[in-house]
Amino acid sequence: MKVDIYLKAAFDTPFNIGTGMLAESIADKPLAKDASRRPMIPGSTLKGRVRHECERIIRALIDPWPKDWECEAPDPKEMCKGSNICPICQIFGSPWHPSRIIFDNLTLEIMAKAPPRNWKQLHGIRATDLRAGVGINRERGVAEDDLLYSTETFSPHPALVYQGHINGSLQERKEVALLLAGLRSVPALGSSRSRGLGWWHLEISVKLDGQSTPVDELIQEVGKWCH
Ligand SMILES: [Zn+2]
Repeated sequence: MKVDIYLKAAFDTPFNIGTGMLAESIADKPLAKDASRRPMIPGSTLKGRVRHECERIIRALIDPWPKDWECEAPDPKEMCKGSNICPICQIFGSPWHPSRIIFDNLTLEIMAKAPPRNWKQLHGIRATDLRAGVGINRERGVAEDDLLYSTETFSPHPALVYQGHINGSLQERKEVALLLAGLRSVPALGSSRSRGLGWWHLEISVKLDGQSTPVDELIQEVGKWCH
C-alpha cells in the first residue's frame, strides 16, 4: 500500500532544531538551514522523534512484548537482526533492514512559491535570535560560567507554515495508524523543549494508494495492535 502523509506545521514558540553537527556559526547550537540559509527541519530529526513515540505506543499495546523483539534503538548492536524483526524496525528500518518510509525535510511553505531573494525581506522581519543559556552542573546544582552557551532560535511569523511529506510503502493499515499516532504524540521539536522552545501544532492529511483517507478514523486502528 502506497502511503503519503502531508504535514503542515505552525510553531507556537521559537525553535532550535539543529543538525547535531558543529557548523560554522557564532551560536553553540546553530539552526539547521537549507542552501538558501532558511531555517529548516531535517526529516531525520522528525523521523527519530516519531520513531521514539511509536515505540512507546506499541510497547503499551503489545503486552507482553515478545522476547524476539528485544530492540534497543538507537544502539545498532541492540536493534533487531534476522527475519523476525519488531514492527518499529519493520517501519523505520534498522542497520540491517531498509526503512520503508522516507521523511523529507520540512521547509517554509511560503518559500515554495517565492524566489529566494524574497527571503531577505522576510529575514528582516523575522530574523533568527541568539538566546543565552546556562549550563547547570548537576552534581553541585549550580550554574557554571564556562557552561554558558548560546542557542540560535527562529520564531516564524504565524503566517509561515512548514510543510513536509512522508512517503513509503506499508503492508497494513495498522502500521499507518501507528505512524500517525506517533506523529500526533510529538508536541514539540528540537532542543530546550522543556523550557518552552519548539512547541508546534501539526495538521496531517493522508493518502493511501492515492485516495484521501480521514486521519481520525485511521488513527483509531492503532488499537488493532492489541494482543
Ligand atoms: Zn526492532
